[in-house]
Amino acid sequence: MKIYPLRIGRTKVPFGQFYGGLHGFSLREFAADKDHFIWVPIHAYLIEHPTAGPVLVDTGISPEQVAHVDYYRGSIMEHVMDVDEYDLPADQTMPAQLARLGYRPQDIRAVIITHFHEDHVGPLNLFAHAPVYLGAAEYAAREEKVFGLVPLAYPPSIAAITDWRPIEFTGPAVGGFTGSADLFGDGSVLALPTPGHSPGSTSVLVDHRFLLTGDAMYTIRHLAVDQVRAIQTGDEGQYVDSVRRIQWLRRQFPELVILTAHDHTDYGARLVAGLADGELSDADLSWAKSYERATFDELANLNPARLPRYVPAGDGGGVGHAA
Ligand SMILES: [Zn+2]
Repeated sequence: MKIYPLRIGRTKVPFGQFYGGLHGFSLREFAADKDHFIWVPIHAYLIEHPTAGPVLVDTGISPEQVAHVDYYRGSIMEHVMDVDEYDLPADQTMPAQLARLGYRPQDIRAVIITHFHEDHVGPLNLFAHAPVYLGAAEYAAREEKVFGLVPLAYPPSIAAITDWRPIEFTGPAVGGFTGSADLFGDGSVLALPTPGHSPGSTSVLVDHRFLLTGDAMYTIRHLAVDQVRAIQTGDEGQYVDSVRRIQWLRRQFPELVILTAHDHTDYGARLVAGLADGELSDADLSWAKSYERATFDELANLNPARLPRYVPAGDGGGVGHAA
């Protein structure tokens, strides 16, 4: 089955949001730190399922969110988010990215969302004709607020959706996962529960070859959950547990390729480039596996040389990068 990464702009995040979870990086620092930003890409994925049709996993952000002063006006989000948090060039909007592959929004037959966070569901309303699959726990928590302030599911992004399909993980165990859900009845697209980042975060296993994690892991290095950890808005214990289950899955399927939403590293960029035609070549797969062998030991412990560190911008500005 072909799988295409869709680049839907980028977002500016504090380095500590991605990598400060083990270092006492507090929420207060998260909100106040304006000196250690990095840009990270936002990716959705399009799967060409033979019978279910073109299916999206996540949808990224919308142009309305980028002009967020209006989009978020009257909500706490207006105050939480930085004005320049998002960047969405015209050729990276969801309709533009679909058009590149010969599709219009109305051609999409189903959408799977990994979780409700607003950088994953921004233009979801373009797909109001389609069923929207998501973890049942995420659906149940849709009215909840992160930190008691920020809505888990921002109403303008999702208001038009009528055909919600909450996923119950009643199917067979896979790897370390005690349940799964076979979304299209042929075993090729399995939803797996990876809660923690949000109450019902869900990952999607395609052909037992690709795992789309949403934000259950931000980058491949987050596999080493005892050495690299995002700060958590959700349940940290669940988050760690979900990453361990992904480690187990990876041991069961050694060829597995993990595709996250925001991998800003060489590894993520190479996979995205390699999947431009929907298929990963043997050369790209073997490059990925040798990168992983240089990055982790057998138990997914990180090579200390690969610990993420913040590199300030050469011009002294506020946006550096993570090496
Ligand atoms: Zn995200």
